[in-house]
Amino acid sequence: MVNKETEHVASYYAATINESKTYPILKEGITSEVCIVGAGFTGINTALNLVKKGYKVVVIDSARVGWGASGRNGGQLISGFTFSNKFEQFGEEVAQSVWKLGADCSDLVRETIKEFEIDCDLKEGFIEVALNNLQMDELIERKASNLGVLIYEKTKAFSIRPGKEVLIETGQGSVRAKHLVLAGNAHIGKLNPKLRRMIMPASSCIIATEPLGNERAKEIIAKDMAVCDLNTILDYYRLSADKRLLFGGRYNYSGNEPKNIDQNLRKRMLNVFPDLDDVRIDYAWAGNVAVTIHRIPQLGRLTENIFYSQGYSGHGVAPTHMAGKIIANAISNEWDMIETLSKIKHIQLPGGKWFSSPAMSLGMLYYRLQDFLASKS
Ligand SMILES: Cc1cc2nc3c(=O)[nH]c(=O)nc-3n(C[C@H](O)[C@H](O)[C@H](O)COP(=O)(O)OP(=O)(O)OC[C@H]3O[C@@H](n4cnc5c(N)ncnc54)[C@H](O)[C@@H]3O)c2cc1C
Repeated sequence: MVNKETEHVASYYAATINESKTYPILKEGITSEVCIVGAGFTGINTALNLVKKGYKVVVIDSARVGWGASGRNGGQLISGFTFSNKFEQFGEEVAQSVWKLGADCSDLVRETIKEFEIDCDLKEGFIEVALNNLQMDELIERKASNLGVLIYEKTKAFSIRPGKEVLIETGQGSVRAKHLVLAGNAHIGKLNPKLRRMIMPASSCIIATEPLGNERAKEIIAKDMAVCDLNTILDYYRLSADKRLLFGGRYNYSGNEPKNIDQNLRKRMLNVFPDLDDVRIDYAWAGNVAVTIHRIPQLGRLTENIFYSQGYSGHGVAPTHMAGKIIANAISNEWDMIETLSKIKHIQLPGGKWFSSPAMSLGMLYYRLQDFLASKS
């Protein structure tokens, strides 16, 4: 039986990956200039930016590259990095510089795809842009590995000893590094309780229909666009390269995998596309997003040489690429954007899952109410 903790979920992406590659488990003590925990978009993009600057980089992941949200998401390239208006309190210049991050982050993804010749079904659509994630993630990581990044899979970081040289202990080995980057996002868990309390892991789900054929696909989404509604608890859908409908939505707020994803999401899909009543659902899967109270991604330092980025609140495909650039430039002392973003103080929720799940439910109820009121105004 497949171990869900360490192997890819049975998604459409995993089934259509170009070429699956595995990396070894870390079984010794090694040293590096930078150690990155988490091989999703955040971790791998940080690594790519750093090796291009000449740094020696190690990336470890407790499962596989792209195992987390980066390999499971809706593939919608949503522009915008954060709610830049929340930075207006720090002056016009700061708010503008944060706004520009958002304007630039989708272009950064396009540049990365071009620079590394990544074959990921990128489609330009009017409402948003879409791509195939696991292909994107695995191919970026392949390029990173070709550039000299050392990648270890099935290598969970269990503890961190801060200091001038940080010690990261894994199950069967360890890494000593001058800099540590925590990119575990919704899966950070016990490794760092402070970061865990700053986010609320929530599940989001996707279904993929059987291939619809060109004509039927055109009937339902005429211009082959990716569509994403503007609500906080959003529905999103698009066509895949082989003309399946990928339809996502439906959060739960515990971070536990929801049951009957296919049946529940099918009902929601039929609300939007009643004509797809006879269509088979071939894949159904879920993943965890990290939601923040302010809905602003959280980037910062825990100590002088321990960095983190997390909490993209369900909109991370493009911002993670910008986050990788910001953190790499903070390490090389070339861009102080991380200090600017750290001006917002992030709220920590007290008390583990017993408190944070109800708090999450309340928070989501609040956002639902906001969405409802906005739709009526
Ligand atoms: C179903 C779904 C649909 C989504 N749709 C969209 C969308 O259409 N558009 C959009 O913009 N965003 C979307 N998102 C959000 C987006 O995918 C995420 O914001 C983004 O991928 C986060 O990337 P990441 O690298 O920070 O985290 P992840 O991809 O989750 O990676 C974190 C990695 O860290 C590893 N890790 C954690 N702790 C440890 C440890 N102690 N030791 C070693 N490794 C560790 C995990 O194994 C994991 O691989 C969606 C998310 C989901 C789940």
